[in-house]
Amino acid sequence: MIIALKRNVRAEEQEHLIEWLEDQGVRTHISEGEFQTIIGLVGDTTRIDTDLISGLAFVEGVTRISEPFKKANRKFHPEDTVIRVPGSTAAFGGGAFQLIAGPCSVESEAQVETIARAVKKSGAGVLRGGAFKPRTSPYDFQGLHEEGIRILSEVKKLTGLPIITEIMDIAHLPLFEDVDIIQVGARNMQNFELLKELGKTDKPILLKRGLANNMKELLMSAEYIMAGGNEQVILCERGVRTFETYTRNTLDLSAVAVLHELSHLPVVVDPSHATGAARYVKPMALAAAACGADGLMIEVHNDPPHALCDGPQSLTPEQFDDVAKAVAKVRKAIME
Ligand code: PEP
Ligand code: MN
Repeated sequence: MIIALKRNVRAEEQEHLIEWLEDQGVRTHISEGEFQTIIGLVGDTTRIDTDLISGLAFVEGVTRISEPFKKANRKFHPEDTVIRVPGSTAAFGGGAFQLIAGPCSVESEAQVETIARAVKKSGAGVLRGGAFKPRTSPYDFQGLHEEGIRILSEVKKLTGLPIITEIMDIAHLPLFEDVDIIQVGARNMQNFELLKELGKTDKPILLKRGLANNMKELLMSAEYIMAGGNEQVILCERGVRTFETYTRNTLDLSAVAVLHELSHLPVVVDPSHATGAARYVKPMALAAAACGADGLMIEVHNDPPHALCDGPQSLTPEQFDDVAKAVAKVRKAIME
């Protein structure tokens, strides 16, 4: 349920209403917009008498929210949420756009440093690199684990780029202290215990859409994190599994438009995992920028044929530079 307040509401009237609502057993979520204050109610609102609230002189209107996601809902928070990465200028949402780039997996310090310096020069604002890799086969490279995170931290110190890496097990959380954005991969989108624990952290979370999950399920997973108190969630469309075989997944760009309509959270697109082929990354990156994505996550490797993971979809630093320049032109065009 949301309660829209009139512009001239007095602070004590607002406080009194909030106190009364919380006494009814619901939690309140205040969104102070430029033109209107909205009180969102989370919890069991069935006992709340909407007529009583609508009758208050300072209340503009009361609406029950039919969608099961509340905190992630744009009705709760009409303005775009801007997620800023602490200690850097990187931001996502509300007009802020960010390129996240780096290798699929951290392989060595020299590799990550080379790639980081190159992608930074091309305009990337966040460095990616997997330390814990969710591989389909247990015989494939699983990542450097703790050492991978140490390398990312080291390269962060050397380049000033904030870092993002994937968490697979909440027991590893202490290793993520220096990580700026925690990634939840597609395979863990519905690992609800992991999501609940991440809800207790204060770091931005990049939540990737599951291989076969619809948008409502993605938003419900974001809701798990937000319900725990961490409202800094970046949604990521990375393609879903369909009958198509020429691409690794099918990039659902309609997700950008639909998620922006339903939610105030930023939406990032990953054209690398979506297509699985380096030659399709540029056209899909441009399309994502054109339809209003708040950022892109692109895999970049200094030597793609020898990458330990996802070489075929990795761009070289030169190719990434070309994509970054083209994306900047599209961004400019859509902002005019
Ligand atoms: C990744 O970004 O490293 C990754 C494993 O992606 P996804 O979870 O989308 O498959
Ligand atoms: Mn990958």
